[in-house]
Amino acid sequence: MDLTNIWQDCLSRIKDRIPAQTYQTWFEPLKVTGLVESDIVLQVPSRFYYEWLDSHYRPLILESLKHATGKDLKVRYNVALGDTAQDENETPVPTEIEDPNGFSKSTQLNRRYTFENFIEGAGNQFARAAALSICDTQKKAAFNPLVMYGGVGLGKTHLLQAVGNRMMSQKAGFKIIYTTSEKFTLDFITSIQKNRTTAFSKYFRSVDMLLVDDIQFFQRKEQTQEQFFHTFNDLFQRGKKIVMTMDKPPSELSGLKERLTSRFQSGLTVDIQAPDLETRIAILMRKAEEDKLDIPYDTTEYIARCIKSNVRDLEGALIRLLAYSSLRKQEINLNLARNVVQEILGRQAAKTVTIDEIIKAISRETNIRETLLVGKGRRKDIARARQLAMYLSRELTEASLVSIGLHFAGRDHSTVIHACKKIESMMRDDPVFQAKVDTLSKELANPVY
Ligand code: ADP
Ligand code: MG
Repeated sequence: MDLTNIWQDCLSRIKDRIPAQTYQTWFEPLKVTGLVESDIVLQVPSRFYYEWLDSHYRPLILESLKHATGKDLKVRYNVALGDTAQDENETPVPTEIEDPNGFSKSTQLNRRYTFENFIEGAGNQFARAAALSICDTQKKAAFNPLVMYGGVGLGKTHLLQAVGNRMMSQKAGFKIIYTTSEKFTLDFITSIQKNRTTAFSKYFRSVDMLLVDDIQFFQRKEQTQEQFFHTFNDLFQRGKKIVMTMDKPPSELSGLKERLTSRFQSGLTVDIQAPDLETRIAILMRKAEEDKLDIPYDTTEYIARCIKSNVRDLEGALIRLLAYSSLRKQEINLNLARNVVQEILGRQAAKTVTIDEIIKAISRETNIRETLLVGKGRRKDIARARQLAMYLSRELTEASLVSIGLHFAGRDHSTVIHACKKIESMMRDDPVFQAKVDTLSKELANPVY
């Protein structure tokens, strides 16, 4: 097989595994230029490409090469000639802000994301309030920047875009940019290739508000971070608001320069937590209403109980429910929802378990009577089984630590925490025990209907 074929084979495999946009951005510009011993040589447009590819996609590339050739090839990068405009001083400086081709001029805002359709709940209340308050131009918000962090699918992008949309609607001529750190990086690279770094920085520095999503993708892009640092400082010093999102608190972002993360922390940092049951029900009802779906309440609640991780999965469940009902020409009901949920959750947690069921199961498993399990006795085997029951209650139910404690002779929440830690450490130390616990929790979470 010749080199081009090998590479084509690789690419088609890669294409199937990553979003189309990502593929276009990072893989289409690559050229394969040679095979030296067991190294395949890829030509990349610039050093940044190499940094990015290598830090994000190396395992994928290697795996695809192996698949295509059956051999463990290595990758070598070669930066295309012509990419010599790294030194800004050598590039002609445009006299005015030129139309910055190659990076986005538009605001990139999506009107779908507003405060009005953002459902408030315990997990996002504070973030929402902070986002709203930064939109209040009457009152000079005391904090800047605003950082919102949290796991995937919890509404970070939604809130960030809602800020942009709100600002655009309340102030004519307000200049705002929404970008992601990935796009910022790419635009920066493009500006280097096109000798437009000056225009690039002018463009970003001319805004009234800057919104940057998913800061964590700046990890290990030193030059881009540097560029962002200057942009940030410039805007900050002129009192322009900056709002950013990330997947972890700034202090825990690895691969980001200390001086950048300490800047992030100079304003207000708020977290977004997974929505609680009430919020999940409210979100589902709202989305169903938007999509004009008629879903019985018990079905809504069932979905909300089962899908806890994030809002994106909740939306996914609705879409799938709709697809099922139209494909099978069935009405949307609890039964259909069970199928959907089971499919989404795979073999885990397709049913919400109660603490009592957990206690029963442990009792069966260990031959220790239920009354003993929930009692005060301290015999070692009983205590251990009790700890396991507490651990599973925390993993598999939505009960608070306090209410778990109440099921076990009114023990307090710190006892429950201690139990969970103990079981976790035993699982780490003992794979056999871990496998046992895993099986038990699968059985509990996935009974036959
Ligand atoms: P993140 O950026 O944190 O990964 P997104 O903002 O993309 O998450 O949210 C995922 C989806 O869930 C989006 O379609 C968003 O509109 C929706 N969503 C998230 N939180 C809420 C909420 N509180 N109310 C309504 N929709 C929400
Ligand atoms: Mg997002």
